[in-house]
Amino acid sequence: MNARASRLLEQLRAEDIRAALVTKEENIRYFTGYTGEGCLLILPEKLVVLTDFRYVEQVSRQAPECECVRTRAGVTPEGAVATLLQEAGLQRLAYEPYQMTVAEFQGWQAALPGVELVSLANKPEVLRQIKDEGELDSICRSAKIACDAFEKLLGYIRPGMTEKDIATELDYYMFKLGSEANAFSTIAAAGPNGSLPHAVPSDRPIQKGELLTLDFGAKVNGYCSDMTRTVAIGPISDELRAIYDAVLEAQLRALACVKPGASCKAVDAVARDYLEPLYPGAFGHSLGHGVGLFIHESPGFSTRSEATLEPGHVVTVEPGVYIPGLGGCRIEDMVLVTRDGYIDPVTAPKHLIQID
Ligand code: ZN
Ligand code: ZN
Repeated sequence: MNARASRLLEQLRAEDIRAALVTKEENIRYFTGYTGEGCLLILPEKLVVLTDFRYVEQVSRQAPECECVRTRAGVTPEGAVATLLQEAGLQRLAYEPYQMTVAEFQGWQAALPGVELVSLANKPEVLRQIKDEGELDSICRSAKIACDAFEKLLGYIRPGMTEKDIATELDYYMFKLGSEANAFSTIAAAGPNGSLPHAVPSDRPIQKGELLTLDFGAKVNGYCSDMTRTVAIGPISDELRAIYDAVLEAQLRALACVKPGASCKAVDAVARDYLEPLYPGAFGHSLGHGVGLFIHESPGFSTRSEATLEPGHVVTVEPGVYIPGLGGCRIEDMVLVTRDGYIDPVTAPKHLIQID
């Protein structure tokens, strides 16, 4: 039994639960190292991965400490879990409520008549908030790949290229530099498209006088990175320059507050209170989110967050200003909270870069 699974069981013991069914991909990976399909049953004495023929060998390679039950005709995951619980004499099972469909839940209920299903809530996600050395190392390597890819991209971008050209090239560089996958779909948004915080790269050619926002991330050992830089295509208007300067100032002010014990709501407010009087209503999303095996994790910086920063948290700080018809700007770093402040592995420059 590994330390992560033990920690989860320890928390569940308070609710008199001694078994947990994990169905979310990132959580199965977190507890076992296994990355394929299937589900994981955490029992007091062992971890059991239930999967089909395609993944049996993969389980033995990635998670040798786990037992593997091969599902097939006549051996459903639900039936196998029922048998395992019976053998262990357990009548309560924690399940993950956030990923399971209603139909799946009903399937489990039907297959486990004498078993009480109890919500695991977000306990695995809470455990995942605090990253260990190995996780931090993967996240930093992932950030370095993204930064190096960005630097290469700066020599490639020219006015007249489309957003799609640029996003595709950036993805290619990240893969060539060692990324396993994109952390999320790369955003390249120029000119009027820049006012859409989650714009999809289009066939529109970028033009001189526009801001181009690039939001992207790599993956190393399953761990994501996340960064955004906004660059100028040729000379830009004073109006756009002022937006850039304001977003950067908001980001620097918020970053200056990142340290253990800081209230996530207060860090969000620092950036928001600075931008709101300058550009009323133009910064409508939260300031940042946690990053790990999944691109959006807890804790996050928002007006509603009740969280407090702790060493081991990895969070983004990404204020933006979005003005329909004119454009937008976002600057995002992903930082590692340490015992006395933070480390910022996103080393790409933040002064306004002009591409001619
Ligand atoms: Zn991002
Ligand atoms: Zn982000």
